[in-house]
Amino acid sequence: MEFRKEVEISKILIGGNVEESAVEIRYDPLTLQTSRIVKKNIPMPFSGDFEEEITSSRNWCPFCNERVEDLAARDPEIMKGEIWRRGECLAFSNIMPYSRYSLILRIAESHYLRLSEFKKSHFFDAFKLIQDYIGKLPGGKLYISIGMNYLKSAGSSVMHPHIQLLVSENATDLFARLEWSAFEFFEVNGRDYWSLLVEKEKGGERYVGKTQKTDWLAAFAPKGFFHFIGIPEETEFAFMSDEQLEGFSEGITRILKFYETKGFNAFNFTFFCGDRIGKHFRTNFHIVARTPFSKYYWCDVFFPKLFHDESVTFFSPEDYTRELKNLW
Ligand SMILES: [Zn+2]
Repeated sequence: MEFRKEVEISKILIGGNVEESAVEIRYDPLTLQTSRIVKKNIPMPFSGDFEEEITSSRNWCPFCNERVEDLAARDPEIMKGEIWRRGECLAFSNIMPYSRYSLILRIAESHYLRLSEFKKSHFFDAFKLIQDYIGKLPGGKLYISIGMNYLKSAGSSVMHPHIQLLVSENATDLFARLEWSAFEFFEVNGRDYWSLLVEKEKGGERYVGKTQKTDWLAAFAPKGFFHFIGIPEETEFAFMSDEQLEGFSEGITRILKFYETKGFNAFNFTFFCGDRIGKHFRTNFHIVARTPFSKYYWCDVFFPKLFHDESVTFFSPEDYTRELKNLW
């Protein structure tokens, strides 16, 4: 396992002085995909006020209690046309399916939550419903992804907090790459990549800490702002114990609180689930903060990401690990 990085120094003449900037190009230790860390002290745009957007989107929100029964698309097969419930969480079909099995989990009754208002139970209840659903799926190889977009700057069309489940017969592009790379890694090392990653990173400058059965660390080659990874003791999502799911839920809420202290309000996360894949693949979880949503937010996916599949961030993983550790 190699943590490779190259540094390019760029010079600019500004105000009569030559300024040097370091650009770090980091290689993901598993996939060798590169990310660029441009360490510049640029101020992130402030969250600003978007009360108007909260109010207007609440008026038509399909996931708010007063409309969800009428508007929710239903799964005619696995869920027999029912909405499944647990705590504040409601599970129903995604009206815009991205795969053979595609669910929405509305995780909170509130239409809008500040990042510090997300509760462990919001995630835990959704994860339990997802387990119930996966348990009813037919056998065979399936790629299971769980994801969340929160607020428009993270790509979400509906503000109301919700998670999505995508279960597909075909892997997404990165899921396929992870699987091949993880298979190769297992063949060479005799164990799965993620358990060895935890062992190598533990106690190091990118290791944050633990929650129940889960280790948390900053990604060496981040795919977005403040990219953290959660690695579980139990490999397959469908069979995870309550303790394991609580470990994830607790870690997520801690990271969201941290994002809020940094002035962020939007985020994405995903699980690549290790279910039905094999010993070489362990479920792994990723979370990043997105450009704060506000009336005139900017989109942080620009040509390097869209066409080159190259992530560009402005913060060093070793720096923000130290900061999160103080709050952990
Ligand atoms: Zn709503």
